[in-house]
Amino acid sequence: MLYRRPRGVNDILPDEVGRWQQAEATFRELCRLYRYEEIRTPMFEETDLFVRAVGEDTDIVGKEMYTFEDRGGRSLTLRAEGTAPVIRAYLENSLQGQDRERLVKLYYIAPVFRYDRPQAGRYRQHLQCGVEAIGSPEAAVDAEIILLSMHFFEQLNAVPVTLRLNSVGCPACQPEYVKALKSQIAPQLEQLCHDCQRRYNTNPLRLLDCKNETCQAIMQQAPVLRDMLCPDCAEHFAQLQQTLDVLDVPYTLDPTIVRGLDYYTKTAFEFKVPGLGAQDSIGGGGRYDKLVEQFGGPPTPAVGVGIGLERVLIAQEVANAT
Ligand SMILES: [Zn+2]
Ligand SMILES: [Zn+2]
Repeated sequence: MLYRRPRGVNDILPDEVGRWQQAEATFRELCRLYRYEEIRTPMFEETDLFVRAVGEDTDIVGKEMYTFEDRGGRSLTLRAEGTAPVIRAYLENSLQGQDRERLVKLYYIAPVFRYDRPQAGRYRQHLQCGVEAIGSPEAAVDAEIILLSMHFFEQLNAVPVTLRLNSVGCPACQPEYVKALKSQIAPQLEQLCHDCQRRYNTNPLRLLDCKNETCQAIMQQAPVLRDMLCPDCAEHFAQLQQTLDVLDVPYTLDPTIVRGLDYYTKTAFEFKVPGLGAQDSIGGGGRYDKLVEQFGGPPTPAVGVGIGLERVLIAQEVANAT
């Protein structure tokens, strides 16, 4: 009997591995130029790390994690996203050192595992290139990470990429917005999809990025978060946009970019490639100013990006074919 690979994963054969090596080398070189240092964390972590970071009512924690019990009875989970393990390692190894003001800039190239319905551009193991800048609240760092990503796409000719930009606020302004959103949507609650009816109570921001057409139509009338930001978040968002303008990085403001994870604050962004169909997002990220604290560290603002290498290579193929 011949064995086959498990559903949703791929072999990378010798005749295609060169493209992967080239993409990885390009990413490494860009990270070197931007002064990011490599970090390699384990393939699995304590399950609770992802649950705490990502949030209970997210698709990742609810239905996509590869969780198993080891022989010692511990609950472990294969790397379900890139940021939580890096922050865990940053704190555990005191990478900030004595200097609380130090900006720690890290990158990784690592597989991420999600039990997702496999389709073109969506696999149960994908290779993620990511960077995390830990220790600065400055919008300039958000812009740097976006620019690094754009350079990566350009150097691989994985173009055209559009940048969708949003701010999801902070604990000072997001709750007010959520209140406004919920009272606006309440009369139509029954018409929302099953998931959204649940999210309405558990994770209302996620109503904004539902792919269901009825939900999207209802969300057209939703209040816009970036109009309700507190002065601090509004100032940060304005500075980010000004910096991107100076760097000549085009972007589109998009209130539906809330990302699927609970830990984002302020900046949230996504890179999309028109023509890739349903899986047109090739990467994204944002600011997560509360995560280090949530993991037991001192208040430490941070921002990062994660890029799916499989989708970048698909975008590259599409661009080269035209
Ligand atoms: Zn705010
Ligand atoms: Zn929905």
